[in-house]
Amino acid sequence: MHHDQAVRPVSWPESEGIRLLRSVATAMVRLSETTGTESLSRPYPEEAQQALNHTVLACLLLKAQPPVSLPELVAWATHRPLNDWPLTVPADAIRPGSLLLDEATRQPTQLCYEWAVDAEDSAALSEQPFMSTASTRCREEEHSEAYQAFRCLLIRRPVLTHRDLVTLPSADDGALGPLGELLHEIYQPAPAAYLQRKRRIYTACGRCRTLLQPTTKGGMWCERQTCRNRDSVRMGREYRADDDGGVHLLIRPLRQWVSAPGILEERLARRLVRSGADVELWPDYGAYSMRVRLPDGTTLAVEHKDWTSPALLGRRATQPLSGPHYDRCVWVLPAARLREQRRFRAIFERYRPAASPELMSDRELVDSVRKATGSGPWGEDATDNELTEGLF
Ligand SMILES: [Zn+2]
Repeated sequence: MHHDQAVRPVSWPESEGIRLLRSVATAMVRLSETTGTESLSRPYPEEAQQALNHTVLACLLLKAQPPVSLPELVAWATHRPLNDWPLTVPADAIRPGSLLLDEATRQPTQLCYEWAVDAEDSAALSEQPFMSTASTRCREEEHSEAYQAFRCLLIRRPVLTHRDLVTLPSADDGALGPLGELLHEIYQPAPAAYLQRKRRIYTACGRCRTLLQPTTKGGMWCERQTCRNRDSVRMGREYRADDDGGVHLLIRPLRQWVSAPGILEERLARRLVRSGADVELWPDYGAYSMRVRLPDGTTLAVEHKDWTSPALLGRRATQPLSGPHYDRCVWVLPAARLREQRRFRAIFERYRPAASPELMSDRELVDSVRKATGSGPWGEDATDNELTEGLF
């Protein structure tokens, strides 16, 4: 049942609280990219100064105690759950207990990125400029294999040495085609915050392969929530700081919006293929995540969206406008996230536009495909190793 437009929370863009959250989130992302959120020095980046001014003003209007400085605003972002900030926001816009910076590392949380890309002028913080450059260049040269190889590289190798950066474009008979130059823009020297200083090494996460960050308490931290939800950090490959011309890390917007969902997309695709569907990943130079064709000819456009905020996700819920034909559009979330946030679907429903994709858990999608292909109910191979990582 579609909701009537009138009951939708139309106040979103006009809400002062929403503007403030976007502004603070953008500032935190910018700070983490420039000076770091630990060592702040004047002059502050423009976004940071603006966010501080906005917050002080909002506090004065609401007769609350304002932060006296940028370090105090950073402390709020790190320790003060958003539901305790002096803000007026639409219902369900904020999940109680959520933070903009991670307490162990002061890196922006995934939620912080979700707020930052909600802002109108957020293209620079998102994956879009880079991914559209990649698809345009490959399309011009009619080189769809290069586009596929590029997506795989971003998912499987978020860390490269300088030597890799130089040699990869000509490896595999030029599998990356016209994208060699782009690699130098999107892989940047690994930030010092990831370096284990005593041994002069960087360590990759054994699960998602991005770099782990040493914490103030002597532990190691992965930015990906699914990796942290496991019992312990799994250490992966070690890189010596100076070997092969130095260590480069894929920039965060691409790790956040391409690599992390990509891991889930590849696994989901394998599962769907084993269930009897035909799957094409990133069809038509990435018009959408995957095209799934069932034996009866029905086609689905599927996108994997592992977002933490159902309100922010709901606001963006639109169907792909280009790419190969599909009958239904489905947005998939990990079943674990829907279990953990019981109101996720209800809040998503409340914020989504009228014509928007269906929301399903990965498990529901696989089950419905198995039903359609007659491969029987899900279950017998549920212990399959690759699935213990993220799916179900
Ligand atoms: Zn990880």
